[in-house]
Amino acid sequence: MNTQYTRAVLALGSNLGERNDTLSEAVADLVDRPEVRLLVVSPVVQTKAVGGPAGQPDFLNMVISVETTLEPLELLRHCQAVENKHHRVREVHWGPRTLDVDIIVYGDLVSTDPALTLPHPRAAERAFVLYPWSLVEPAATLNGQRVGELAAKAADYPDLTPFDGFGDFDGMPTAGAV
Ligand code: ADP
Ligand code: MG
Repeated sequence: MNTQYTRAVLALGSNLGERNDTLSEAVADLVDRPEVRLLVVSPVVQTKAVGGPAGQPDFLNMVISVETTLEPLELLRHCQAVENKHHRVREVHWGPRTLDVDIIVYGDLVSTDPALTLPHPRAAERAFVLYPWSLVEPAATLNGQRVGELAAKAADYPDLTPFDGFGDFDGMPTAGAV
């Protein structure tokens, strides 16, 4: 059995149902076993849903860092089990997602396996992953570049807003806004 801990970054997203509750429960579920230790939790950001049916709710996204003794494919299965636990609503193809959990990096492992590609093949262009990651691990790099620099260059960067727990708002929230 593998007893070495490897650091991994996981990206979580939700745009259906009680999105913030889902993310909170998913973080708890992901680290609810001794093989996965929580290291870092990012703030939650809000992102416009790109592609799929029009008018779907905005995504909430965040990243966590963990250290784990699970092998890469075991960690993927664990992430998928947590996704499945929260997939209680009928799914539309490319439509709203109750929960998506992706492995962004697993140590410095590089894999081209379609079942688990590492680093995650689209992470370097997704500000909704890179930006929250940069907030908590500013020195982190992906493909040799700082994740914050990659975030600022990503096409979806202008669509990100901080999520303040009060839901959608137009401009800055006023005191006591709900
Ligand atoms: P997506 O996350 O691209 O919206 P899914 O969550 O449905 O789509 O994942 C589709 C497949 O992507 C999974 O079955 C999984 O095997 C594969 N996959 C490949 N690389 C990764 C990765 N780094 N993290 C998570 N899933 C991955
Ligand atoms: Mg996924």
